[in-house]
Amino acid sequence: MNTHLVHTSSCPTCGYVVDRASNNPQKSESRNPVPGDISVCWQCGAINQFTPGLQLIPQPLHELRADERNEAMRLSESIRRYHREAMNNHDLDA
Ligand SMILES: [Zn+2]
Repeated sequence: MNTHLVHTSSCPTCGYVVDRASNNPQKSESRNPVPGDISVCWQCGAINQFTPGLQLIPQPLHELRADERNEAMRLSESIRRYHREAMNNHDLDA
């Protein structure tokens, strides 16, 4: 998975500061994000979109094609599950 530095922006849902973006590892293409690209927040799993100035705004799910929506929701759920499991493991350590 290739990671690209991007203009600093923040997630409109959780405020997480974003300064890099990774491509979907299931796609072979690797490039910088462009306006209109979908972004899933690494911190909270929110589904966002890059604006023309490459800032992040919430992405209404109904505006996505079915395949885009399914992929974004799958990534979002993976991220949220990762954080839940990390939190559970942390609780076991305490
Ligand atoms: Zn977020």
